[in-house]
Amino acid sequence: TLPTGPELFLPERPNSRGWDLTHAPTLAAIDAARAPFRETRWRAVPRLADDAAPGPERPVTSPADGSATGSVAWATPGAVEAALNAARPWDATPAERGAVLSRAADLYEEHYGEIFALLAREAGKTLPDAVAEIREAVDFLRYYGANAPEGEGVGTFTCISPWNFPLAIFTGQVSAALAAGNAVLAKPAEQTPLIADLAVALLHEAGVPRSALQSLPGDGKTGAALTSDPRVGGVAFTGSTDTARAIRRAMAGSLAPGAPLIAETGGLNAMIVDSTALPEQAVQAVVESAFQSAGQRCSALRCLYVQEEVSDTILTMLKGAMDALTPGDPWQLSSDLGPVIDAEAQADIDAHVAKAEAEGRLLHRIAVPGAGSFSAPALIRVPGIADLDREVFGPVLHVATFRANELDAVVEAVNATGYGLTFGLQTRIDDRVQHVAERIRTGNIYVNRNQIGAIVGSQPFGGEGLSGTGPKAGGPHYLTRFQRHSAPAATG
Ligand code: GLU
Repeated sequence: TLPTGPELFLPERPNSRGWDLTHAPTLAAIDAARAPFRETRWRAVPRLADDAAPGPERPVTSPADGSATGSVAWATPGAVEAALNAARPWDATPAERGAVLSRAADLYEEHYGEIFALLAREAGKTLPDAVAEIREAVDFLRYYGANAPEGEGVGTFTCISPWNFPLAIFTGQVSAALAAGNAVLAKPAEQTPLIADLAVALLHEAGVPRSALQSLPGDGKTGAALTSDPRVGGVAFTGSTDTARAIRRAMAGSLAPGAPLIAETGGLNAMIVDSTALPEQAVQAVVESAFQSAGQRCSALRCLYVQEEVSDTILTMLKGAMDALTPGDPWQLSSDLGPVIDAEAQADIDAHVAKAEAEGRLLHRIAVPGAGSFSAPALIRVPGIADLDREVFGPVLHVATFRANELDAVVEAVNATGYGLTFGLQTRIDDRVQHVAERIRTGNIYVNRNQIGAIVGSQPFGGEGLSGTGPKAGGPHYLTRFQRHSAPAATG
């Protein structure tokens, strides 16, 4: 049965209001607030408790057009060592920690102009995507702040965050680890150090001590140094399943038994549209789930199953809806689809689509700007989800059909991938909702709506199997995993 436990009734805490983009004065205010940052060159540096000489500066460029957005100085091995030595768990009561995190949320909202500018220029986010992202970041700060627990953190927690939510997931990991009483070493994604740098500056300004939060921009080598060191007591990671495996191995070699790894990883997410579904609703949900954020969400829809009887109708409508998308410079208000994160990602996605095209399986594709790292949204026919051998992280939707008597077989095929992050179902048969929900093994199930954009506090987000370790982010059990629940294991 569907979950109905008391754990779903959470304390009163309003989520962020966000910005209403259909309200012209609001849009004008956003435009004015971000305008001063149209040409800004930001500079990210390691933010440490003690001064350390930064490494050489590297350029950071925009995925939208390759223009310069700023520079980053990576943490040197010496800086990593200094940070590990200087890290001190946040010595404050839960209420004090909560108040500081809530003040940081206010600062994020006050700095929305600069944040919108950074999200567009560094991460290629359209304005609606950026609104969703800043709201989620603010909600994480207030939610974990309001629920800051008594008890002891594990000591020093390493947080390694992805480029696809460079503010929200970065902030979610860091604020959870801080709320639970840890010292945090934060390693932002290599592609998006600038926005993380602003987030850390605002958290420090709100009152988080520098010894409790240090940031260490760098690449995978920095991440590896921060996950294999015995001074680290736990790791929060969002990214690929392969990297999560490597972190687990590194931790097994060095950390105390039971040291937590909280990993949110990939997905091969499916949606089933049966013959009773409302076509307009289904198509809108499919387009949002597959193409919003240019498909760069781990929750995104990758494989659509449409019941044979309605597949011609649904696919015709879907192609029309794809044609109505407007890819373009994410700074422009008219754009509803931005670039993918970099040229490497673009080449990977485009190679996948080219292969499908060569095999005669490309059903539809729309045009995108020639400059910048744009990947054209594509629709590819597949026999079934078993034919997807990996997660292609971009605006590529695979579609399969099924017969009325094959519903359970489809559910089994989805379960057999081993991933289990999000799942969508479009149907007007109530019994079917219950039937499928009981059988599908995924973290988040969405019925008759899109399957992205989980809301902090009301839709805890996380997967099972190859998709993550749990507990779910933005839910009542997440913070417990950042704390010590038994006597520290003997070391030495
Ligand atoms: N929480 C996001 C959502 O519900 C996805 C997070 C991710 O892509 O890692 O869409």
